[in-house]
Parts: sequence; structure tokens; C-alpha cells
Amino acid sequence: MEILLYWKEALKLSSIEESAKRIQHHEQQLRCPICHQPIRIGESNKLICTNRHSFDLAKQGYVNLLNQPSDSQYDKKLFASRRQIITETGLYHLLHKKIAEIVAENLPEAGQYMILDAGSGEGSHLHEVVKSQQEPTVSGIGIDISKEGVKMAAGQYKDQMWFVADLANLPIADQSVAVIMNILSPANYQEFKRVLVDDGLIIKVVPRSDYLAELREAIGKKEAQAYDNKKITSLFGEHFQLIDVISLTNQVELTAQERKHLSQMAPLAWHADQEKIDRFVHGSSGNVTVDLDVLVGKHS
Ligand SMILES: [Zn+2]
Repeated sequence: MEILLYWKEALKLSSIEESAKRIQHHEQQLRCPICHQPIRIGESNKLICTNRHSFDLAKQGYVNLLNQPSDSQYDKKLFASRRQIITETGLYHLLHKKIAEIVAENLPEAGQYMILDAGSGEGSHLHEVVKSQQEPTVSGIGIDISKEGVKMAAGQYKDQMWFVADLANLPIADQSVAVIMNILSPANYQEFKRVLVDDGLIIKVVPRSDYLAELREAIGKKEAQAYDNKKITSLFGEHFQLIDVISLTNQVELTAQERKHLSQMAPLAWHADQEKIDRFVHGSSGNVTVDLDVLVGKHS
């Protein structure tokens, strides 16, 4: 029993130490979320800034940089469903492949660079994209306001850095990341502009009109919540030079269990009539459409 406890403690410590090393390697690219001064890994594997603001690494290896708990309503169940859908079904394979291609085409082959996923949730999109990069010097940094999401990301994906933080106050130093991904998630363009290097890339993914059409139809929200991304695209164009818009449409057959996960991860279905959800889950066709625009931008 004692030996078991010893090993548990040892494992916990090594996870923190490994994360601390990873963060230390990138500490010049980080900044204190309170005073915006440089921050580094100090004694006892804490993140500490020049004004002595300090933040503990959690045992999973992430750091919570929020002053107060967020009121994020996203819970464990949602993130577990999201992970199942992203990693176990092919729903987003085409998207990951396309993002990896865009990054490879637009960034110089050599050199170290960092990919930020702003609004990373439980981390699977970032993990899939970083995994597909040929270059071993690519590092991933995932930031989300939801502690549950970040905790789950850090527990599973040990090669990336994970922070609970506000997108309006990124813990990242000016001009530090080469790629920003912002997938089906709100943006903060002022902050994105600040942290992106001069020749960096921003990749924002927004829904098109048929995104999850089958689920939205089943719960009677397809008409009520029509996806029109014109406004988002034009706002994006006000902040960045839009260099490409790539439309991706694919259909994937999901099992009933997978359809259930999908209904649990999609906020639009949370307050829907259970009967309608059940009809979607157990319906005869399991086809689900992913219909997205990938906006690619650079500093204007
Ligand atoms: Zn500080």
C-alpha cells in the first residue's frame, strides 16, 4: 500500500516536472496575465513573474491563470463527448488534414515555431494538428477559459502546453506564435494580432449553412439558427489580410452511440426536446454533414 502511494506521488510529481520543463523551454514566449511582465518557472515548479505573481502547476500539468473561476457551462460530459467525436470518428479528419497542409505550405520548413489553439476545449484538435506536422520542432499551446476542458487536455496530451486563461488576456508575449488556430470558437482579434509573429498565420474555422444539418433539422433548429458566416468573415477581414477561404464539406456515417456524443457536445442541442434528440440518435440514417469555411489570414 505504501509503495503504491509512493508511486502515485512519484507519477504526479513527474507529470508536473515534465510540464514545468516544457513550459520552461518556452517561457520567453509567455507573460504574466496580471502585470504582463515576463514570467518563468521558478522554485517548486511554479510559474512566477518579475513582480512575484505566482501560479501553481496542477497535477495534470496545466496552469490555471484566471484570477477567478469562469462561469463556463461546459462540463466533463461535453468534453468527453467532444473527444470521442474528434478522435474516434472521421468527422474532422478532413479539417485536420487541411489545416496541416495550410501550415506546411505557408511556413518555412526549418526552425522552431509554436501553434496556439485559442479556445482549445479538451485539446483534441490541437493534438491532431501538431501530430500531423512533419517538423518535430513544432510546439502546441492550448488555451481555454474552461478549467474542465484544459484539465482533460493536460491529462491526455502530454506533448503540448495547456493554460486556463481568458482569450481577452492571453498569457503570451508579443509576437510569439507562428500559427493561431481558432476552431468553431469565439475570437479576440486584438490579442491574436498582438501575439502573432510578423509573417504568422491565423486559421479560423467557421460553420457553413449545412454544418451538422442532420442534427439541427432533427431538433427543429436548422431554420431558426441558420449559419451565415458573412459577418464573421467580414470582421475577420477588418483585422487580418484574408489570404484564402477554403470550404470543406464531408459526410460521415456515425453509429447511434456516436450520434449521442454529438448531441452532447453541440451546445445547440442542449435544451432541445429529448424525444427529438432520441429520434436523431436512433434514426435509420447516421449520416452527419460537416460543412465549414477555413479562413486563412496574415497581418494586414
Ligand atoms: Zn505579474
